[in-house]
Amino acid sequence: MPRFRDLSILYYLPGRRLANIGLVLTHPTRGISDLCEVMRGLDVDVVAVDMCRNIENFDEAFLSLIVDISKISDEQLEDLATEIRRSENVKELVIHHSQIPGLVSDMFFDYRGTLGRRSLIISFPALTGFFQGLYDILGDSAGAFLYHAGKLAGIEGATSHRVLLNVSDIDLWLRIAGLFLRSLGYAREVSITRIDDRIEATLKDCLECQIQARLRRLPSSNWTRGLIAGIATNTMGRDYSAEEVECINLGDQHCRIVARPTT
Ligand SMILES: [Zn+2]
Repeated sequence: MPRFRDLSILYYLPGRRLANIGLVLTHPTRGISDLCEVMRGLDVDVVAVDMCRNIENFDEAFLSLIVDISKISDEQLEDLATEIRRSENVKELVIHHSQIPGLVSDMFFDYRGTLGRRSLIISFPALTGFFQGLYDILGDSAGAFLYHAGKLAGIEGATSHRVLLNVSDIDLWLRIAGLFLRSLGYAREVSITRIDDRIEATLKDCLECQIQARLRRLPSSNWTRGLIAGIATNTMGRDYSAEEVECINLGDQHCRIVARPTT
């Protein structure tokens, strides 16, 4: 049974004993109530809670808890599991113990990306190494490579996500595309708007430009600029190219990318 989520988060509480409790609830509200009832008498601190419906059976829900079990014994944890399993509203229960003291991740959900589509979660150091390696090997043409790769990714992403969400309104879709880029971590804030036949994106704390500041590359945005060109190309149904006209690495408050039709 797939239970996909978008991002896996690591929890780090030095000195604590942590565990991840995962449940499949056949009646979500009653299941949560039963869980609270069982946990009420135990000294277990809840660190984080994540829940989503089973998209294959909307009556069911997946619930994942990160808990601090420092103050209870293994026997008490076993008793807790037995009590929870007695609930008629709980179909499945799994408890994952962290192998590393103080550090735990959500082991219950399968992390595959936005809307259940596979996506690559790239960390800041991995992305820095990737950009650095590309520029070392390809020199300045790495920028062109990143731009065109980003553009194809933007076209592909916009095509599949627009079909999934069934959005035909262009301005609404551009707002959604901005949300996607933000949720994927490309910037702290992303706003994409249409002005006549131009598509403009304003990004606050653009990840790529922050990395490029360390690598001292100007103009900074190539991959992100490509994504905007790809989204514009898909959205407007004709070929677009994009330029970064303001950038944090040029002293501007934010990065602004403008996409225009090529013909
Ligand atoms: Zn920039």
